[in-house]
Amino acid sequence: MRKRSLLGYRFDELCGIVEKAGGKKYSAKQIWSWLYKKLVTDPDSMSDLPVILRNYLSSEFCILPLKIESSLKSSDGTEKLLVRLYDDNFVECVIIPEKDRVTLCISSQAGCRFNCAFCATGKSGFKRDLEASEIVGQVTAASEFYGRRITNVVYMGMGEPFDNYEEVIKSADIISDDSGLAIGKRKITISTFGHIDGLKRYIEEDVRYKLAVSLHNPFDDERNRLMPAGKKYPLKNLFLVLKEYALKSNRKVVFEYILMKGVNDSEKHAEELKMLLSTLPSKLNLIKYHGVIGGDFTPLSDVLSLKFYRYFSKTDFPVVFRSSRGEDIAAACGQLSADKRTEVPS
Ligand code: SF4
Repeated sequence: MRKRSLLGYRFDELCGIVEKAGGKKYSAKQIWSWLYKKLVTDPDSMSDLPVILRNYLSSEFCILPLKIESSLKSSDGTEKLLVRLYDDNFVECVIIPEKDRVTLCISSQAGCRFNCAFCATGKSGFKRDLEASEIVGQVTAASEFYGRRITNVVYMGMGEPFDNYEEVIKSADIISDDSGLAIGKRKITISTFGHIDGLKRYIEEDVRYKLAVSLHNPFDDERNRLMPAGKKYPLKNLFLVLKEYALKSNRKVVFEYILMKGVNDSEKHAEELKMLLSTLPSKLNLIKYHGVIGGDFTPLSDVLSLKFYRYFSKTDFPVVFRSSRGEDIAAACGQLSADKRTEVPS
């Protein structure tokens, strides 16, 4: 039977494992510190643990559930990592350094079943859900690789996080634990295309990570052509659920909108979008589209993007315009594919 990784357990679960092995809670604290403060995952190297516990952990658990296969560095400092999973599936994660923070964009699934027309991940099909340990492992491995602490995490890599709800929330709980990696809840963003079933559960369980919704078009029929899963989750229903979220959490919903030439960039789109977003506390992130090889879409020029942006900014609507980072290494929004043929070994 395949060995599990210690990275896949919340602290209370780890205490249970240690107790079952005859150890004390104090040892669980030591293991937690090795895993998340010193980034050491091999039990044999956890030198302050009783030998009997070390031997038990070594025999029962694997050292790491993944391996960084290769990396690519962009001219803007962004770094994309190709990650090999235990079963030879691949995912990608992206390190985005800024002046005062290091953000990691992580994957929650190998591939994706939702097939959005502008997304390289969608084109590669669905392989499987990631386990919590494989999601947490991206953070610890990237941190070790980069030699700096990851300060922010966004679930915006490969996969739809709410399609793998349990493992995603579990991983975020582990990543945010104060005595471990300690990445604050407000520094973790879960991004969904509008998966209503997952959103309902998120609201019901009062989960407190930041929420972002990929909208990309304010008209159902057009949006459904871009994002076929929208047929199951129409905008009217999505906004009803999001209003409930905003009301209960007292938080704004962040909407992501990738600008594509001739697709979602007209005044009609801007007007409808503004009308929709005005129905709840919200913030709009306009994102420059970066092409996918063989894709059907074209980026909007900077001049026209600015025009679209001004439609919102002139009335003080909370809006930002950003060009996603790492375009030259195919690490921008919608470009992740984990196609190892495009990678060069580091
Ligand atoms: S945009 Fe998100 S939901 Fe759509 S195919 Fe890509 S990864 Fe899946």
